[in-house]
Amino acid sequence: MLTKTAKKKRNGFRKFWRLGMDGFNTQNFDIGVDGELIVREGNYQYNIFDIVKKYGTSTEIVFPTVIENRVRDLIDTFNAYIKVLGYKGRFFYHYAMKVNQNKEFVLPAVAEGANLDVASANELFLVKRMVEQDKFNNRIRVICNGPKTPKYMDLIEELKRKGLIVIPVIEDFVELERFKKFKGNVGIRVDLDVKVDSHWDKKFNRFGFSESELVKIGKIRNLSLLHYHISSQIEKIDGLVRPLQRALELYAKLREQNPELDTLDIGGGAGVPYAKKKPFYTVKSLTRCLVQAAKFTCDRLQVKHPNLIVEWGRYVVAPAQITIYKVLAEKSVENKGCNTWYVIDGSLMNDLIDTWAIHQKWHVIPVNCMKTRKLQKVWLAGSSCDSDDKYTAGGGYIPLPRLEDTDELYIAFLDTGAYQDSLASHHCLLSSPAKLIAQNGEIKVARRRELPEEVGKLFGW
Ligand SMILES: *Cc1c(COP(=O)(O)O)cnc(C)c1O
Repeated sequence: MLTKTAKKKRNGFRKFWRLGMDGFNTQNFDIGVDGELIVREGNYQYNIFDIVKKYGTSTEIVFPTVIENRVRDLIDTFNAYIKVLGYKGRFFYHYAMKVNQNKEFVLPAVAEGANLDVASANELFLVKRMVEQDKFNNRIRVICNGPKTPKYMDLIEELKRKGLIVIPVIEDFVELERFKKFKGNVGIRVDLDVKVDSHWDKKFNRFGFSESELVKIGKIRNLSLLHYHISSQIEKIDGLVRPLQRALELYAKLREQNPELDTLDIGGGAGVPYAKKKPFYTVKSLTRCLVQAAKFTCDRLQVKHPNLIVEWGRYVVAPAQITIYKVLAEKSVENKGCNTWYVIDGSLMNDLIDTWAIHQKWHVIPVNCMKTRKLQKVWLAGSSCDSDDKYTAGGGYIPLPRLEDTDELYIAFLDTGAYQDSLASHHCLLSSPAKLIAQNGEIKVARRRELPEEVGKLFGW
């Protein structure tokens, strides 16, 4: 039992590291008695320090239960607001596979009722494998985005013949022509004329048809779905509501000549509080606003409430993985700003490539020594020989324990489950991290850390 003062002290540290907070997706994180990072899964708990001492670093740890809970909660929340607000359409969640194609991510989502959205022939090939292994219920719905190469087209046809519900989304005039002979429902993608606040402030969007083009096309054979995808990590609820309202205006117009159009697919975009500095919108309030806006807009336009599809990928999978490194050395560098660097045994440019590509912010916390009051302001250096292989929290600093206060220091990057894996690279031929799965109180090795032979093989050696 902890004494009252010990408890108070622990809560102080927990708050400092932003753990145990629903609003930051850290409700499962805690600090153990000896100042070690703990992650809970129901009544199971994992001591991350013990795990990385056993399995080494660099290491990714996946928590499939987080995905299951988020998918279930998302579907329940939509269905609840649909009922409460008297919305007449149905809700379907489609997991966008491109966000993380690892089996350990896709299967838990599907288990909780996720349908899928694929972006390429190769992603659809994985679906085919699952179908052939009898892993997927035939009722699963698969939306096909991305350019339809001949291979992609053949797979779509093949899976359709096998009885799967496959809905190709038409992206351009060439595909429009090609899908005239398609014997199932099709969707069409619009590039909405609306700008929103997000990290990805796109000046140009090359996906789909313009609104006026779609209105001009008129009748489209078997059109059942209108799709758009505005952006990712959208900062404010309004950034998801405004595109919805605009798309519903178009939906109403398209229905005049396409009365079988009955579904609006609003794509991805729901964000995650990566930096954990200020409050972020909750998916509950986001869902309420979306269903409310859909109902209000449709009633005003006197048009049938469409079924709603969301393809939120990042929101579901980002918090399901953490990435752990060991601090190898401390270095003082005479330069502007922060001049203490911690060198880690992995690469930000390779394993967490968005750090470099889009200046992604992360929440970085110690895995051990979490109860020290003496912290050092540092920048992090990756192990590659590239000067861009670093994390500086956007030119700020990362507060971490001092190396003199502990024999060894491990650090964790939170929310690394979205996008990083398939974008990962091999700069300086560094090995990719090991991938561990933490589920039902047990740790399984899904992928060992790459051996030199394996990395060499990728380059013909
Ligand atoms: C990338 C993508 C998504 C997922 O976006 P998130 O921002 O991760 O939710 C959904 N739909 C389409 C078409 C996409 O390209």
